[in-house]
Amino acid sequence: MKLTLFPRIRITHGPTPLEFMPRLTEALGGPNLYIKRDDCTGLATGGNKTRKLEFLMADALAQQADTIITQGATQSNHARQTVAIAAKLGLHCEILLEDRTGSKVEAYRQSGNVFLDYLYGANVSERPAGTDMAAAMNEVADTLRAKGRKPYIIPGGGSNPIGALGYVVCALELIDQFNNQGLNVDSVVHATGSAGTQAGLLAGFEGTRSQIPVLGIGVRGPKDAQGTSVFYLGGKTAALREVSGSVKRESVVANCDYVGGGYGVPTPGMVEAVTMLARLEGILLDPVYSGKGMAGLIDLCRKGHFSKGQNVVFIHTGGAVALYGYTDAFKDLQPV
Ligand SMILES: *Cc1c(COP(=O)(O)O)cnc(C)c1O
Repeated sequence: MKLTLFPRIRITHGPTPLEFMPRLTEALGGPNLYIKRDDCTGLATGGNKTRKLEFLMADALAQQADTIITQGATQSNHARQTVAIAAKLGLHCEILLEDRTGSKVEAYRQSGNVFLDYLYGANVSERPAGTDMAAAMNEVADTLRAKGRKPYIIPGGGSNPIGALGYVVCALELIDQFNNQGLNVDSVVHATGSAGTQAGLLAGFEGTRSQIPVLGIGVRGPKDAQGTSVFYLGGKTAALREVSGSVKRESVVANCDYVGGGYGVPTPGMVEAVTMLARLEGILLDPVYSGKGMAGLIDLCRKGHFSKGQNVVFIHTGGAVALYGYTDAFKDLQPV
């Protein structure tokens, strides 16, 4: 594996910490629970898109782009991190936000990530739910090209083989940390959406033959669709000449039992998980991804899916800024 052959800009504050969660571990009475702090990647309050953007933005610069176009849901963490790095590199940024939840709550529509998109200087426009967002981005690109600009399109979530390389890097970073800390890891768990994170991790673990199982907790589509999209993207990432490996369908594990009412729609499990992590570990999860991912991990621990003494690492993929768009979901909080 020779990742130096890909253009990359280094923006991640890394390696991000790998920490033990003693109080959560004790509260659940199951496996030893660790957390990989990819909420601390440094860019624009952090998150997993930063690692992907190291490769995507380097590619955009190599193609002499002057404008970045990307898309996401209203409270997209990917959009926020993309706008921030575009600002740092002096590029224009066009953000297309799909109204996937239909929420009319003012905080959801204007606070959290949306506020930061504007603050970092993006040109933000909305599209109704169900819009073909890839086609919508192409339209914007055509309009810009007609004006003499050089747009570069980043797919939703930064999930293509170039973006997934960011999580090949994370897999290598994790293996290094596990070896240095003498930690024998039985499972890596994280929230999976547009699939780039899980695809990159699988390609990275596969490429180093470390055989660490990865469990993706889905936050949107049904299990088969989620597994298939991770599998295809993982295969394409691993097949890059410089990565050279393969991802087997059976190593792609997605559990989509914790999506609830749909993408971005709060669930009681998410509210419990976000509250537990805040109160037991002082860690802020997010309502759309890491909160549901952690809700899945908590439930699986309670059901005895992992045994006592096993070591499980949850990757915190960031997104806590979106909490400000979701304060309504937490209105029944009581003091401890
Ligand atoms: C985008 C995102 C994810 C999901 O990562 P994918 O690579 O899209 O599967 C998880 N957590 C947070 C906070 C995210 O913003």
